[in-house]
Amino acid sequence: MISLSDVFGKYFSFKKKSGQQISILRDEGYIPRYGNELLCARYYNEDETQYADIYVPLKGPIGLWLSGGADSALLAFLLAKTIKDYGLNLKILPMSFKRDDKPWNLWTAAHVIERIESILNLQKGEIFLNHNFCDFGDHRQKLTHTNKIKNHITLLKDNRLVTIVYNGLTHNPDPLPPELQDERETIRDVSPQEYLNQNLSKHDLEERIISKPFLFLDKSFVANLYKKHDLLESLLPYTRSCEGFAQNTKFFKQTCKKCWWCKERNWAFSKYVDDPYKHIPASEKMKKSCVAV
Ligand SMILES: [Zn+2]
Repeated sequence: MISLSDVFGKYFSFKKKSGQQISILRDEGYIPRYGNELLCARYYNEDETQYADIYVPLKGPIGLWLSGGADSALLAFLLAKTIKDYGLNLKILPMSFKRDDKPWNLWTAAHVIERIESILNLQKGEIFLNHNFCDFGDHRQKLTHTNKIKNHITLLKDNRLVTIVYNGLTHNPDPLPPELQDERETIRDVSPQEYLNQNLSKHDLEERIISKPFLFLDKSFVANLYKKHDLLESLLPYTRSCEGFAQNTKFFKQTCKKCWWCKERNWAFSKYVDDPYKHIPASEKMKKSCVAV
């Protein structure tokens, strides 16, 4: 794992609060771009062998890509919990996109936010703003989804609608179990040292470390935090990680149990829940937005 202090050589003064560590990165010759201060809440797994540093700028709103999968849902929970616990005046703009052949992200993500608001006893609008819904259409068009996402983030930042956009991307397991060898995104294999060797500008490095807090943590860490924060029944069943197509999932009412993402979910969660594929049934609206492929 790497953190801002590794990169910038800053010293953090940690304070214990509610079993967590919190630090404030103060301006000592280096000014974070997201306000005068950057709060960092550290979330440990149960045996305290791993942790995620959730850096939160004191200036917002902050954007969050929310696919409705287990990783982005946990990040949404931790961001909202940090904002609530420390009484920050900060809003989250949840962002989800629709793909023509896999339209389920928004419907799942909307349920995820409702669940988090209920778990943390939040009023509607208290932390989560209305959903920013992007229809990215067919991924086989000229611009890939990755480029569409980049363009969209640039648009939001240039217009000062968000200060930073978070992403719950996790690391691939290391070592990789046999069932996860094929079809994985190899970009998620990159080690912290390889990452530091990429000659990124300080700003790019800073922004990536802040915005992707699970970058060097795999899904077993995510699963352990679901258990630690008592989310296995209250949040996990409302998330969906499967990337199967309509014909393999009964129009997204089931998970396919065959795609790489289903296998990864099973690998990470099976020791905590009986059925790691549990999901919410598709709504009528969701079924109507499907394009059979
Ligand atoms: Zn699947």
